[in-house]
Amino acid sequence: MGKIKVATGWLEACAGCHMSFLDIDERIVELFKHIELTSSPITDLKHPPEEGVDVGILTGGIGNEDEKHEAIEMRERAKLLIAMGDCAVTGGICTMRNFFPTEEVLRRGYIETESTVDGEIPVHEDLAPLTDKVSGVDEVVPVDIYLPGCPPTADAIWYVLTELLEGRMPKLEGKVLKYGMDGG
Ligand code: SF4
Repeated sequence: MGKIKVATGWLEACAGCHMSFLDIDERIVELFKHIELTSSPITDLKHPPEEGVDVGILTGGIGNEDEKHEAIEMRERAKLLIAMGDCAVTGGICTMRNFFPTEEVLRRGYIETESTVDGEIPVHEDLAPLTDKVSGVDEVVPVDIYLPGCPPTADAIWYVLTELLEGRMPKLEGKVLKYGMDGG
């Protein structure tokens, strides 16, 4: 059997979830005997290939139009989609802005912060407009597997990927959902 193709994406997120992925440490050598990482924020190729992948992994919530487009693209190109980390599952910490109008959030961020002098809200065609609210991935596209945690432990990520390699749907319960799994 050929290698399973995996693509990862990074939406409204910090780097933590991808760093946790790398925290599987030397097991990554074993993993890469069985998977091909086609694209990822931590590789040169950023977008999943047009011909598709077996597994897509998205970290981060959706808070602007580019992120929405990336989530749709990943869903269209991945047979199975994993929302990895609390931001992808629920929108996470970025949903704090949902309590305020978008204009107020931008004004606070770019003009009113105590350290800002002569600030202005940037406007450029390359800057994606914010969505009204930050959401989890599944408010935009269907998700097949939810892997919560901020970030999920390396062991939980390892568990999910190895279960899929064995042809099983991972059961996310008990210790898998805790920080610092035993034996990790
Ligand atoms: S879930 Fe936590 S570690 Fe992952 S992207 Fe969000 S804030 Fe970062």
